[in-house]
Amino acid sequence: MSESPSHRHPEKRNRPDNPIQRKPKWIRVKAPTSATYHEVRKLMRGLNLTTVCEEAACPNIGECWSKKHATMMIMGDTCTRACAFCNVTTGQPKPLDPLEPTNVALAVGSLGLNHVVITSVDRDDLGDGGAAHFAEVVTCIRAAAPGTTIEILTPDFKDKPGAVEHFTAVAPDVFNHNLETVPRLYPSIRPGARYFTSLALLAEVKQRIPGIFTKSGLMVGLGETREEVLQVMDDMRAAQVDFLTIGQYLQPTAKHAAIDRFVTPDEFEEYAGFARGKGFLLAASSPLTRSSYHAGEDFAKLRAARLAQLSSAAE
Ligand code: SF4
Repeated sequence: MSESPSHRHPEKRNRPDNPIQRKPKWIRVKAPTSATYHEVRKLMRGLNLTTVCEEAACPNIGECWSKKHATMMIMGDTCTRACAFCNVTTGQPKPLDPLEPTNVALAVGSLGLNHVVITSVDRDDLGDGGAAHFAEVVTCIRAAAPGTTIEILTPDFKDKPGAVEHFTAVAPDVFNHNLETVPRLYPSIRPGARYFTSLALLAEVKQRIPGIFTKSGLMVGLGETREEVLQVMDDMRAAQVDFLTIGQYLQPTAKHAAIDRFVTPDEFEEYAGFARGKGFLLAASSPLTRSSYHAGEDFAKLRAARLAQLSSAAE
């Protein structure tokens, strides 16, 4: 039997058990069965690539992979952090795979995607947090699939000064970094991170690469209040974040943070309305929204929204 992620790290092992709650009827997904799903899986294994879709046990994998929308997770399958919501294995990661940028680019070319999302584990063990490797992956995708737009979903690069400079030259189309939850819950949910470090990263990227779209996401159902969520929206807008995603937190195992409650579809709609009112170019808010869910379609909407904004400003 393989070791479960929560048994590989003392912080996770020592957490009390939180019974997993039954999901409400609005969170039901189909098991992945399509031929395309198996094709994508074979391609990933053949190129020795990891996906966050599998590692995070994402509920949308059947739908996304049936459209070949896989989100590759670079720099290994082992994370140096132990966030209370995350299913990715925690431990001492292996050295970076020098062939990974080429293999990711090959996979993107084979999948024939219009838009790809690349994410990674946290690599606090590396001097630059893995930023140079991330940038190399972007460069290789640009060379292999010049028509594909690229979104990167990165760690916070805490205590890694200069990390953002690696992205300035390669200029991905979308820079995504999730705040994940409200600041009050950081010590229990995201203990290795700092709320204002993440906000500062988003602001710095926008300042250095003005044409880029920035994006950030929140999980709800962890005990946050509506007022706290609205404050996070204001903080994101102050950092000029363009696109907000909000989805329901789902507890991966009994060793992970407990769900406080299931937020209703109407409340998700309400959050989307607030986000639009606060000036986000786009807001995706639903129980199954995830950072990379429908990312290609949303990128087209983002571009259209910016064009509309620019043309109305010119009138
Ligand atoms: S929502 Fe994102 S992580 Fe989940 S299956 Fe789709 S692409 Fe993968």
